[in-house]
Amino acid sequence: MKTIGLLGGMSWESTQTYYRLLNENVKTALGGLHSAKVVLYSVDFAEIEALQHQGNWDETGRILSAAARAVESAGAEVLLIGTNTMHKVAPHIEATISIPLLHIADATAQVLLDARIDRIGLLGTRFTMEQAFYRERLEAKGIAVLTPNATQRDRIHRIIYEELCQGVISERSRAEYLAVVNDLAAHGAQGVILGCTEIGLLIQQAHTAVPLYDTTRIHAEQAVAYALG
Ligand code: GLU
Repeated sequence: MKTIGLLGGMSWESTQTYYRLLNENVKTALGGLHSAKVVLYSVDFAEIEALQHQGNWDETGRILSAAARAVESAGAEVLLIGTNTMHKVAPHIEATISIPLLHIADATAQVLLDARIDRIGLLGTRFTMEQAFYRERLEAKGIAVLTPNATQRDRIHRIIYEELCQGVISERSRAEYLAVVNDLAAHGAQGVILGCTEIGLLIQQAHTAVPLYDTTRIHAEQAVAYALG
């Protein structure tokens, strides 16, 4: 079994989910007392969040590249960045390490292609929904990406930072998210990507008939498949 490196803490609410899923997936595959070999580097999210909202992505890239190198030095053989948003600086990080990076959007695209989906809704931070770095990765594989309208994007973004990343799960926000999921489906999306690693804490498949693609689950599953070769 290969050792999985994880850049976490963005936020730690979703890193807990990653850690559980990596172990559950290894246990499902190998049984008994088997568990995942993991090197976790957990950052202070307040620093990262401030830099994101200042647009200082270069500095976030430097911080996460240093963390990635530490994870590699500690024995990791594959790297996960445990946040969709910070894949904005994935090229920067990738250039400073020699282990492979398992890109969260590529992992998700693979699942969508297997499900023969070519028109998908995307929920995430404003950075993920509005900037090119994420959507382009899906479009390059022939998947059209639908995003919510500007008012909805603003609410989705605020709920991520003000609630989900702080461990707050509210019925009101769940209803708002589900309304946006329905809107995306009404506009032709065959499913919706939960393109922020905390969204799965708020909405799950049991809440809607629209197929949901939870990036945290997908990422953890593919990491374990890779680790078990
Ligand atoms: N975890 C979130 C994501 O997947 C948002 C936190 C962040 O900005 O990194 O995008």
